[in-house]
Amino acid sequence: MRAGHAFLVLLPVALSLADCRREAPPAAGSGHPNVLFVTIDTLRADHVGCYGHAGAATPTLDALAARGVRFATAIAHVPLTGPSHASLLTGRSPLGHGFRDNGGYALPVGVTTVAEDFRRAGYRTAAFVSGFPLDRRFGFDRGFDAYDDHLPRGNDPRRQPYVERLADATTEAVLRWLSAPLPAGARAAPFFLWVHYYDPHAPYEPPADLRARFPSSPYDGEIAFVDAQLGRLLRRLEERSPRTVVLVTADHGESLGEHGEETHGLFVYDATLRVPWIMAGPGLPSGRVAGVVARGIDVAPTLLDYAGLPARADVEGRSLRAAAEGKDQADAPAYAESLFPQLQYGWAPLHAWRTARFKLIEAPRPELYDLGADGGEIRDRAREEQGRVDEMRRHLRAAMSTRTPSAAKEMDAETTERLGALGYLGGGGAPAPGSALRDPKDGVRLVTRLGRGMETARTDPAVAIRELTAVLDEDPKMLVARRTRAVAYAAAGQHAAAIADLRRLEKEGHLSAEDGIVLGDNLRFAGRSGEAIRVLERTARENPRFAQADLSLAEVFIKEGRRADAAAAYERVLGLVPDHIEALRGLGDLALLEDRPDAAAARYGRILEVDPADAGAMTKLGVVRMRAGRTEEATTLFRKAVEREPQNGEALLYLAGALAANGRPAEALPFFERALQAGQKSSMALNGLGLTRLAVGDRPGAAAAFRESLRLDPKQPDVARTLAEIAAASPSN
Ligand SMILES: [Zn+2]
Repeated sequence: MRAGHAFLVLLPVALSLADCRREAPPAAGSGHPNVLFVTIDTLRADHVGCYGHAGAATPTLDALAARGVRFATAIAHVPLTGPSHASLLTGRSPLGHGFRDNGGYALPVGVTTVAEDFRRAGYRTAAFVSGFPLDRRFGFDRGFDAYDDHLPRGNDPRRQPYVERLADATTEAVLRWLSAPLPAGARAAPFFLWVHYYDPHAPYEPPADLRARFPSSPYDGEIAFVDAQLGRLLRRLEERSPRTVVLVTADHGESLGEHGEETHGLFVYDATLRVPWIMAGPGLPSGRVAGVVARGIDVAPTLLDYAGLPARADVEGRSLRAAAEGKDQADAPAYAESLFPQLQYGWAPLHAWRTARFKLIEAPRPELYDLGADGGEIRDRAREEQGRVDEMRRHLRAAMSTRTPSAAKEMDAETTERLGALGYLGGGGAPAPGSALRDPKDGVRLVTRLGRGMETARTDPAVAIRELTAVLDEDPKMLVARRTRAVAYAAAGQHAAAIADLRRLEKEGHLSAEDGIVLGDNLRFAGRSGEAIRVLERTARENPRFAQADLSLAEVFIKEGRRADAAAAYERVLGLVPDHIEALRGLGDLALLEDRPDAAAARYGRILEVDPADAGAMTKLGVVRMRAGRTEEATTLFRKAVEREPQNGEALLYLAGALAANGRPAEALPFFERALQAGQKSSMALNGLGLTRLAVGDRPGAAAAFRESLRLDPKQPDVARTLAEIAAASPSN
């Protein structure tokens, strides 16, 4: 049985290796344009100005539509980031590519991406993504010469680290790539560049000016921010690479409360499936609105067409060039699904069949909508139009039973096993409608409570624990509620309770890679380092493309004083992701700890090459310079770090210390005070403040700082003595 599996898996690998021989690159100027493909996460079409949203601030997208083509109706196949991007990049529906849910799935090895097509044709390929679901471990890097998935840790302890890169930082990285010289020996060739922005994804927290401009709709503020950043990118392209085809779309929309859903993922209504599709550039007419229904699977063949390249035969979508140019092109039906309710909640999955006018949603209680008359999908017509339901169901079932098995041959064993376990393989199509599973529309009330719990898991864990416990009391199979409650317990410092929830998931066979990290971290915080190491080592072994396990492992090793093991874990991360910022930082910190300043400086310097705005690396490089006696250079670095992150306590403290040590106590004072306000309340910081106050003649202030320092750490004889001397020198009271 296993051998049979292995054979099926090996066959397409061999085929795709044979395909990897590149054709001769097209000579520069041979007519192939550059291609810029932009996906804006969570952008629903009707929140863009040119799609009719009066309150939108989207001048870049509106101008792009004015000089190019806009598809009035564009449809995503899945309301989830990973699966939908898989369709955009492969030209296949989820039935065809097999990537059915975020996390737990990866793009199967036998499925070809459009980036591979472009690379084979001699294009330079690069991608810049901004959200964790597109991390390279999910296989989206296939076909890209450069895949930049650097996500900053962030400085907000209420937020999960490494989840999002903001649009300005992503744009900076793209602009650096665009202006970098070609690698030595590389021939000038057109590029295929994919840029993904994540900002409109919840939580909606636009920069301050846009928050003020959109007080009641911060989601629109996030969209406006991305639009402005996209504007910067397009202006640079216009200057340097005017022959570029640009296509902007989204992976899915956002419900914003429609049908009781706040965000996306659960339902397959148009609120989360209708997205914008705007394109412009060489060969495209201007100011045209195309009426044909555009589907996610049509993106890849359309891009290839405009680049003068053929689409592969196994692509399910088609080029929409004819429609874009105003010629007749008939509508094609779209398949859509969400297995999220099944995989995450244990409820019934949703499958949909959408024609230009009607949509059938297959659920325990099926729904039918007339999109022409009822775009909001309010009035379910399934009962009164049974004939249409039956007919559309036949198409849906046919699609589900014919496409899945062919794709399954190209899937890796793990994906095949997962789909098999769900009943998606073997020609059966989907689990039968009317099954005993809960209909997602009946569970939406629970989802609202779950959403509240997820939002507050880090900011207000007591509320989150209450909400999530209520959800679990009603439906103990809701895995998301349990894994989120573990995060809330951890935030509340209740590590034993967090561990109990995660061990239960483990026992039931539902411990995801992310859960493994949370479990490892809780064990570490609970002082159970040995268990933490075992869990994290197993997570790393079972998820070899998942860098986070080794990062957490390194932290446990450091705590245990096993520096060589920590360094080895960081090096393994660099083996996966050569410029992983946190691994570079960890190795820099270890070198600093072991007094190897050159090695430390090299690591921090590398971080600043990748992300010149990294305040942490600036600060640590400043420490290295300080130790080498290069005080001025150090002070400059600390100052830059503080400018970049005015609340960075570490940078504030080092800047204050450097100024004080350099005979500038008056300048140092406010930075000591800001460092303390930013949470750097240590005896070291207080002693620095005390000495600096003494230097400017503020004896009472100095005494207060020393007293507080002694309260934190009474065993400081020097400080006690200084305090006594101040008291002795002061006039008696
Ligand atoms: Zn998304």
